[in-house]
Amino acid sequence: MERKFYDVIIVGSGVVGLFIAYSLSKFDLDILVLEKEPEVGMGVSKGHASVIHVVQLPFNSLKSRLGRKGNKMYDKVCKELKVSLKRLNTLILAMSPFQYLLIPIVYLYLKMKLGNEFPVKAVFSRKGILKIEKNISEKVLGGIIIGGYGVIDSFDLMYSLYRFASKNGVEFRFNSEVQQIKLEDDVVSVFTDKDMFTGRYLINAAGLQGARLASMIGDDVKYEYGKGAMIIFSDEVSNNILTVLSLKNDPRTKGGSITPTVDGKSLWGPNLVEVKSATEVSVTEEDINRILDKFTPLVKEKPRKLVKSYAGVRPLTRENDFIIKFSSRSKRVINVIGICSPGLTAAPAIAEEVLEMLRQAGLNMKEKEVIYPDKPVYDRDNIRRHILMGEYLMCPCSIVSKGDVSRAVEDGAVTLQGLSFRTKLGFDECLMTPGLWRALKHMAEELGTTPDKITLKGEGSWIVKKY
Ligand SMILES: Cc1cc2nc3c(=O)[nH]c(=O)nc-3n(C[C@H](O)[C@H](O)[C@H](O)COP(=O)(O)OP(=O)(O)OC[C@H]3O[C@@H](n4cnc5c(N)ncnc54)[C@H](O)[C@@H]3O)c2cc1C
Repeated sequence: MERKFYDVIIVGSGVVGLFIAYSLSKFDLDILVLEKEPEVGMGVSKGHASVIHVVQLPFNSLKSRLGRKGNKMYDKVCKELKVSLKRLNTLILAMSPFQYLLIPIVYLYLKMKLGNEFPVKAVFSRKGILKIEKNISEKVLGGIIIGGYGVIDSFDLMYSLYRFASKNGVEFRFNSEVQQIKLEDDVVSVFTDKDMFTGRYLINAAGLQGARLASMIGDDVKYEYGKGAMIIFSDEVSNNILTVLSLKNDPRTKGGSITPTVDGKSLWGPNLVEVKSATEVSVTEEDINRILDKFTPLVKEKPRKLVKSYAGVRPLTRENDFIIKFSSRSKRVINVIGICSPGLTAAPAIAEEVLEMLRQAGLNMKEKEVIYPDKPVYDRDNIRRHILMGEYLMCPCSIVSKGDVSRAVEDGAVTLQGLSFRTKLGFDECLMTPGLWRALKHMAEELGTTPDKITLKGEGSWIVKKY
């Protein structure tokens, strides 16, 4: 069989690779995405805080500029893909007389840097803060309000980008880890353990493995790794993102916050701990205590119940910035690496930047008519439907029906996490055990396999030992 020659090969289907694939799928091109995991979004993009940011220091960095640009692009993308985005403010709270004295200085600095792009307001009284946020501690003296932030269901976003790109002709190959890259005049050849693919351009959007992939091409990039732990409480706590006014933040982190999530919970964190490898994602007692010590003093009514903790790892470059550059070896390869925070926020703007670079490098891009795929409707989003249709509930507390499991499989779920992130199985105060077993059994039936073949998140993470 004759091999297909691709216009663009993208390595990595995290939020960055997906945004690039979605943007390129609007043109008449042959695009391939190679992903080492069995599903999209299982790298850095799985373990973040889901905030669409405004402020990222230093303001003149690429990550700050693309973060602000990406932020503004989100309303349009979310409308197009029917992804819910909740817009809200960030309140930077002053809790001590010293912090109170800093309000005018920090306000003027932010106002100067953000100009009229995003609203910034200084509030010099507790009463002023109470007007927009009821649940603040007695110690809050005032603060700064920044508008234009957002919170998003990043899984819904990634699955929607994937659905759109697939429907519009992008080919995805999962369980395909790129192990070697060869550059020859006009051709880029990419090797996985079982296959070889050729194309005109290659995008390295491999997240935590971005530096490794760059070295395969001959580029020298070094990463350090920054773990960020986060905890989720069952209740919302605040209507806005809350954080503390501080001049001492580590330049590699925004310092974390209390953030309301799209599904009515609250996320606290993340912190930043340097770790030796990209796989160190355990949440320690120390991580949890540090987060609680930092953020509990901000609110009056404390959250009810801790439901979950998790951590993600950021790829940190020596420059403390994103690297979005042609390879030093060839304009046929673009490295899109070191995409730490606010990479989710910046992703649509990163994709725009990459498209421009591809044009500059000679890729002919002709727009085509696009198809809008149907979005699966899960019963949780439409409780009335499952009552009317009498759908059998596999997990009553998470409101996941048999039909939901089938819809998730049809939408690409092959792992338990893929099922859970789509349907929200086990997301609430749910022990999941009986529901989990019923869902796994039905998922296996839909995939034409047995429950012991289904993993939590890919190779080496089996759930059922014997069946
Ligand atoms: C703790 C934490 C909190 C954060 N909070 C926020 C936030 O609130 N807001 C925000 O804007 N940003 C946030 N970020 C940053 C954001 O999550 C990342 O910038 C973004 O997810 C990076 O996406 P990516 O596509 O570059 O990487 P990834 O999601 O890691 O995608 C890379 C993909 O490449 C695949 N891959 C790797 N190597 C290979 C190979 N050899 N062959 C084939 N495939 C390969 C991986 O499996 C993966 O799927 C946070 C990050 C962390 C760690």
